[in-house]
Amino acid sequence: MARFTDKVVIITGAASGLGLESAVRIGSEGANLVLVDLKEDALEAAKELVLETAPEAKILTVAADVSDEAQVQKYVDATVNEFGKIDGFFNNAGIEGRQNLTEDFGADEFSKVLSVNLNGVFYGMAAVLKVMREQGYGSVLNCASVGGIRGVGNQSAYSASKHGVVGLTRNSAVEYGQYGITINAIAPGAIMTAMVEASLKQMDPENWEEAGMQFVSVNPFKRFGKPEEVASVVAFFLSGEAPFVNGTVLPIDGGQSAKY
Ligand code: NAD
Repeated sequence: MARFTDKVVIITGAASGLGLESAVRIGSEGANLVLVDLKEDALEAAKELVLETAPEAKILTVAADVSDEAQVQKYVDATVNEFGKIDGFFNNAGIEGRQNLTEDFGADEFSKVLSVNLNGVFYGMAAVLKVMREQGYGSVLNCASVGGIRGVGNQSAYSASKHGVVGLTRNSAVEYGQYGITINAIAPGAIMTAMVEASLKQMDPENWEEAGMQFVSVNPFKRFGKPEEVASVVAFFLSGEAPFVNGTVLPIDGGQSAKY
């Protein structure tokens, strides 16, 4: 399948986890990619990995911190300079932050997580949507979380930021449908990536794998999701195959958020 032939897709947080797996998937379907992350060397490794399955892909890497508005504008400008357009945007970079009670969470940690997960998503949307509105087409997919539609506990900033991402998604979807642009969000459950491993290690440094199995024992599938099970959904949203799906927030969680 080559649903992305001649299309240009920006992915933030592309050096690891869901962003990287989505880059591999979308690259394998013919896209030219702009991979954004904090570190140059990790981005180069990501580019090499994508090229293994998509040797023809044109790949631009941009080291940028999504919580810095000027650096966000830099990756958007770099995309337009290199490719002249943006078909799809996976607004994905995020951090989890500390896990503890609300009263112990701390203002600095709260601001730090919000600045990446919420401000970063907003800056990306603002800069990319300006380009897409002028083009008259495009698809934006924000990465929320089940923590953006349910309370998880011990994640004040993460939960607030992801609920914010859901709000931004719905608000902008209402604004931009008239310009031929779709804006949606995914809400992954527990998907085994570096972020989740670090989170489990916060919960139980010694027996984190066991803690993980306990964590997913309440999931209908009784396992973690796999990054490729998210990447295929990301590809669907950005492929142009869902032109009338707008303002939705799709859980990718094995049905866990449907449980009482
Ligand atoms: P990950 O840690 O494997 O990857 C996140 C990537 O984002 C890393 O490469 C990191 O360097 C990058 N990043 C972090 N801060 C950045 C910044 N300020 N600027 C640019 N890049 C930055 O994590 P993941 O699990 O792949 O998470 C990706 C997204 O999915 C996040 O938004 C996360 O909240 C969301 N999510 C993940 C899960 C899960 O279970 N893995 C569940 C729900 C939502």
